[in-house]
Amino acid sequence: MSKIKTVFILSTFLFLGSFLSAEQNILVFLGPPGAGKGTICSKLSSTSHLPHISTGDLLREQLKSEDPLSNELRSYMSQGQLVPDEVILKVLMKRVQKDDCSKGFILDGFPRTKSQAEKLVAAFPQKDHLIFVNVSISDDAILERLQGRLICQNCSRPYHITLNPPLSKGKCNHCKGKLITREDDQSDIILKRLDIYKAQYAPIKKFLKENYQWIEIKNDSLDECFLSLTEKVNQIDPTFLEIKD
Ligand code: AMP
Repeated sequence: MSKIKTVFILSTFLFLGSFLSAEQNILVFLGPPGAGKGTICSKLSSTSHLPHISTGDLLREQLKSEDPLSNELRSYMSQGQLVPDEVILKVLMKRVQKDDCSKGFILDGFPRTKSQAEKLVAAFPQKDHLIFVNVSISDDAILERLQGRLICQNCSRPYHITLNPPLSKGKCNHCKGKLITREDDQSDIILKRLDIYKAQYAPIKKFLKENYQWIEIKNDSLDECFLSLTEKVNQIDPTFLEIKD
């Protein structure tokens, strides 16, 4: 690794460590692409004070600007490859510094590698304020979900052509933004993303499950999955999710 890269990563984490506070509760969602993490996180975010931070959404937002970084990112993302750690860390760091994260946040899409997992827990050493949630689903269901998935170009809310259609065709229920198919939701790229996930997941799970608060949920139906999630989080800490109403 080059010296510049090493200095960058070290300084990133020294900096990250300096603004993550002991009051923050962080719920981290893990699971394959298409497991429904985005939908669960978005529902959880609307019922709690915690913002939903999806690294995929942050990167897709970055792609909208026409700078050289966006072109580089697009080349990774359109092929289903992970973007380099220094890029994802910079983007994530910028987001979690915002005021709405002062009480914590719901993280979706990070960590994707054991090295990202190690960096996350190093930056956030308050073990009891950190819960990892593993969402599982069958491979057949993943393919069905991703092949029919639509997302709002404006607010990133997820829909599905048959399983969760919008009220008005092609338009987001919430912001009326245009619904699009993600470039990486094509069969060959979906399979590549699944392969990457499977190759990376075992070491992440071993490291986190053995050392941190860990919850398993099955996403067969959103309502049941949501109920099971909130029950399990409340068993660990009834104050972890401060419900607004
Ligand atoms: P997602 O929306 O979570 O499916 O992410 C879409 C794409 O963004 C992934 O296929 C990667 O190219 C990139 N990405 C998102 N999160 C990460 C991460 N933590 N590390 C590296 N690449 C990421």
